[in-house]
Amino acid sequence: MNFIETRGNDGRHPEKVSFSEAILTPIASYGGLYSPESLPQLDESFLSSQMDSDYKTLARNILTAFDIDIDAAIIDQALKLYDNFDDPSNPVPVVRVLDDLYVSELYHGPTRAFKDMALQPFGIVLSSIAQSRNENYLILTATSGDTGPAALETFKNRDNVQVACMYPVGGTSDVQRLQMVTEDAANLKVIGVNGDFDDTQNALKRLLASDSFRKTLQEKNIHLSAANSVNFGRIIFQTIYHVHSYLELVRQNAITLGEKVYLDVPSGNFGNALGGYYAMKMGLPVEKILIASNKNNILTQLINTGIYDLRTLEVVPTTSPAMDILISSNIERILFDLFGTERTKKLMHLLDTEKCYELTAKEHEQLQSIFAADYCEDHEGKVYIRDTFEKGYLMDPHTATCFKAYDTCRDMPLKTIVYSTAEWTKFSPVIANALTGETDTHDIDALESIARKADIPIPAMISELFEKEITQNSVIEKGDIEQEILTFLK
Ligand SMILES: *Cc1c(COP(=O)(O)O)cnc(C)c1O
Repeated sequence: MNFIETRGNDGRHPEKVSFSEAILTPIASYGGLYSPESLPQLDESFLSSQMDSDYKTLARNILTAFDIDIDAAIIDQALKLYDNFDDPSNPVPVVRVLDDLYVSELYHGPTRAFKDMALQPFGIVLSSIAQSRNENYLILTATSGDTGPAALETFKNRDNVQVACMYPVGGTSDVQRLQMVTEDAANLKVIGVNGDFDDTQNALKRLLASDSFRKTLQEKNIHLSAANSVNFGRIIFQTIYHVHSYLELVRQNAITLGEKVYLDVPSGNFGNALGGYYAMKMGLPVEKILIASNKNNILTQLINTGIYDLRTLEVVPTTSPAMDILISSNIERILFDLFGTERTKKLMHLLDTEKCYELTAKEHEQLQSIFAADYCEDHEGKVYIRDTFEKGYLMDPHTATCFKAYDTCRDMPLKTIVYSTAEWTKFSPVIANALTGETDTHDIDALESIARKADIPIPAMISELFEKEITQNSVIEKGDIEQEILTFLK
């Protein structure tokens, strides 16, 4: 399978690249993204042939259908990491919560959020490509809390890769910060930055675009890359669990093979939803994909009005911080897939220059034939968390936004798969507040309170964090980031 560019080719980039090329140098002509030239078809006979496949077997078969330039042995090694999830025989449990609402739990990996689903195997794939080319890579990440721990975990002690991970001091939960600052491997550097997430994100973008930084790295024989969510090496692993979740519903006799379902996805950068879109395009029987947001509801606006207008908007902090995003990068791949290169280039140019674009009525109709959307305010999410807990299911605030979309976006009585993107342990103060009204400033108090109320243990990997030695002590001003990274590379 080859990859082509969402904004067309500028004559300097190759017109088509392989999967490994698209992973290593993810930025295409005119700032576009690499997208698959075509998709494999997973028809009903494929689906029915996978009824007895476990997660890894299904994943291997889907990846084979994608026909990517990665050795089967490396793919096997990458997929083996799903054995480190809570239940190696079923890394993604799908549980029935309401009559026709099923939750696909994507958070059973080492860092307790769905970023592990893609980053775990991606770490092996990227490091193997680097080794086979005998090249060294510096991976930069900026995190608001979930990507950082997952990226550190996957690249820890891997050959030919070093990671510098920036987080905003005070901008993450205790658990998220501890997951990062207790990582001790010689190839990892965690940098606390005095500032907010935008400051770290901007520093990252500046460094990725800086010729002098790139040159300094070249002198050290190091290439620069990023593990952000537009990297197709992550997206490909995010198509698999949509197919798996559908098959789980068939296995549980909730649906018969071929019956349509809704996919209901808590969305930020749209990587998770894009994986669902590709699965649908490949032939998964999906009625529509429901896009759930918080008060940062630019995606609701786009899908419901056909207009993407940033002009009067600013990111507002919410209780589902992983979705506090206004520039949702992977939407570009949807525009490209639906409307083609020229149109995508034009729309993205409008977004850059005017901070606004508008789809035609026909384009909007096309978008609405695939997606429906709604957003959930924090106070509404709190009620969903409490009510659902009273019905016997504990969920995090990102997952809660999907329950609103489930209530408001469906026009057919079809089974719905809600994607749960974080364990309760990652956002415990918000959940404790929803359940009891208490306001904890420290995660440990909230964790203990929820554990008591729900009569469940705090998972060892979380409680141990509070005892672990802090090995990553850097806290710096944003102007000093480049120097800090270069010192680490010495
Ligand atoms: C990253 C993240 C999301 C958003 O996922 P996208 O693929 O960026 O849309 C939602 N919930 C949690 C907990 C996350 O970590």
